[in-house]
Amino acid sequence: MNKNKARILIVDDEKMNIKVLVDLLKDDYSLVLARNGEQALKFSFQNPPPDLILLDVVMPDMGGYEVIKALKENDLTKDVPVIFITARNSVEDEEHGLKLGAVDYITKPFSPPIVKMRIHNHLRFVHQHKLLDKLAYLDPLTEIPNRRRFDEMFPKEFSRATRNGTPLSICMVDVDFFKQYNDHYGHAMGDKTLQSIASALENSLKRPADMVARYGGEEFVIILPETDSDAAQQVSERVRRAVMALNIAHLYSRVSDSVSISMGVITFYPKKILVSAPSAQAIMEQADKNLYIAKQNGRNRVVATIFGD
Ligand code: GH3
Ligand code: MG
Ligand code: MG
Repeated sequence: MNKNKARILIVDDEKMNIKVLVDLLKDDYSLVLARNGEQALKFSFQNPPPDLILLDVVMPDMGGYEVIKALKENDLTKDVPVIFITARNSVEDEEHGLKLGAVDYITKPFSPPIVKMRIHNHLRFVHQHKLLDKLAYLDPLTEIPNRRRFDEMFPKEFSRATRNGTPLSICMVDVDFFKQYNDHYGHAMGDKTLQSIASALENSLKRPADMVARYGGEEFVIILPETDSDAAQQVSERVRRAVMALNIAHLYSRVSDSVSISMGVITFYPKKILVSAPSAQAIMEQADKNLYIAKQNGRNRVVATIFGD
């Protein structure tokens, strides 16, 4: 199986129909075959799901309409394009199929080259969509996740922590005397330095669930799921030292010879009985406050507290 080929799931209860499609597509795509609705769902819910599904409407037991409904109800498969290929050729049938969320409706007998081109087009849309999605969440300068990504992830991690009763730590990061840096070294150097800092932050994080995002300007934010206060302080110190280790000269900083960061860290422990549940925003405010204290206390340092203490 070629890793770069798109994967198409073909669902049809008629052997002959499957054969025609296999002959048509086997050179360009990697194919998975299902002979009934149940098999179709089994193969669809595997991670990653197929890139596209060719679905017959009339099948014994579970028909195509039922299959597409199940696909649309599942987060993993709801965006996988489904094309109905069917002998049912009334306008009503086509309308019904499209209403259920199919991207296309092809009636048998079909013209093989046209089917091939339609499949190609739909796969191209999927590819472009995925690319746009990725770009929409990336900060163009530093190529790390952007504020939008953080705003989406933080409430999710917050609810997950609350649900599972696991601690969640947030670190606000701000570059020290960065206005001075820009003023003396120029904006282009400033940009380059932000890129280096972003990489240093990202490389200091070890767990797959940890995430750093550019919060705005010369500020970054780190989410550390399932991380208690001690561990968060350790990570933050490692992050701070990683930036020092870049050893980027900053003659106009009043706290260090090289570019440094200050960090405000907060750890939230979900409690079983809460008088009033804190909001994600309240946690961010506390992290900000700690950052402010880190600046007041001399910069190039970490100030960490536990939420509610
Ligand atoms: P402090 O130690 O108190 O944080 O001082 P500071 O100078 O870092 O704080 P301030 O918020 O006054 O200045 C932040 C500066 O960061 C302002 C701007 O010159 C710079 N900056 C913000 N975003 C960017 C960017 O995208 N590129 C560059 N080159 N500079 C940026
Ligand atoms: Mg700032
Ligand atoms: Mg700053």
